[in-house]
Amino acid sequence: MTDDEIFARLLHLGREGLRAGDAIAPAIVPSAVYHLPGEGTDLPYVYGRYGNPTWTKLEAALSELEQAEAVAFPSGMAAIAALYFTQVRAGDRIVIPADGYHATKTLALTHLAPLGVTVEPRPVARFLEGGFEGVRFALLETPSNPGLDVCDIAEALRLAKASGTVLAVDDTTATPLLQRPLDLGADLVISADTKALNGHSDALLGHVATRDPAKAAAIREWRKLSGAIPSPFDAWAVLRGLETLELRLSRMQANAAALAEIFAASPLIERVRYPGLKDDPSHAVSARQMRGFGFMLSATFRDPAQADRFIASCAMVQSSTSFGGVRTSAERRARWGDQVAPGFVRISAGCEPTAPLSAAIGRALTAVGG
Ligand SMILES: *Cc1c(COP(=O)(O)O)cnc(C)c1O
Repeated sequence: MTDDEIFARLLHLGREGLRAGDAIAPAIVPSAVYHLPGEGTDLPYVYGRYGNPTWTKLEAALSELEQAEAVAFPSGMAAIAALYFTQVRAGDRIVIPADGYHATKTLALTHLAPLGVTVEPRPVARFLEGGFEGVRFALLETPSNPGLDVCDIAEALRLAKASGTVLAVDDTTATPLLQRPLDLGADLVISADTKALNGHSDALLGHVATRDPAKAAAIREWRKLSGAIPSPFDAWAVLRGLETLELRLSRMQANAAALAEIFAASPLIERVRYPGLKDDPSHAVSARQMRGFGFMLSATFRDPAQADRFIASCAMVQSSTSFGGVRTSAERRARWGDQVAPGFVRISAGCEPTAPLSAAIGRALTAVGG
């Protein structure tokens, strides 16, 4: 199936089961308990921590997108915790990104290492160096957040297979429409759906997807026992956000490409990173393994004070953390302690029409430099 076919099918999921008069839009079912007469413990829904009809709808949509079984979590980090605590055991060695999402590394170092897990953080640009001999589990993030370095997933898989390493990929910055690591053979995928999948900056959510039924069952069991469950309201919000994912991504990618050119031409900027730029170190591998170059970019201002003035003054840039929303947003990442230059600004291109957005960015750059 092509991606267009997958996405078109997603919009019509559940159509066959409809009876006359049924609601087309999904319902929010906030019930903690269900009617359980008699024995009644093997029904599809028995208790709110075990299952919920709104999660089921969301997971059906996510499973269609991933072409794999998806399990929803209340945040991207809850999904990453589920991976760690189902795939890793005392005595294991694991490899994680040194320069990816900061909490992924901090969680492993503060909560896995004291349990006897050897945690080896590696930069995403050099993730494959040294291979995975003796490594039980590797979590790759590509493109990495915020550096936008890219790692060859097929090659990571070849190395993982050779050493019996379980390979998981954090697909948040790409989304399943631009990159499906499971198609390349990854064992597991995680996504922070808080970002582009929801796209409206009004809910946190995450998911794990896998084509291995035993792994999916273990992840589901972890959710049930740990209680890391999504709220039915947030599941509904993400379901609605998902409906426009394909449309949003196409505008966001067009905007990211336009902004990359504008920043690259500005004398205030030392360096631009966008995998879509022909001379970007991530270009060749992204062109091979992604179906688009994404909606994130970075611009390193020579002067961090000018970066701050740019973010504060541009009429079409929200000063906020996170990314993947409908509004273009930016932040200077050094404020969080990321290992980046002080003038490094991460930008998430939004859904504004391209011409006014480009004009506003150009005006703000000129004003800051003048
Ligand atoms: C945001 C993010 C996460 C965590 O997601 P939350 O929903 O904030 O918990 C994980 N990985 C990446 C790459 C992210 O950008």
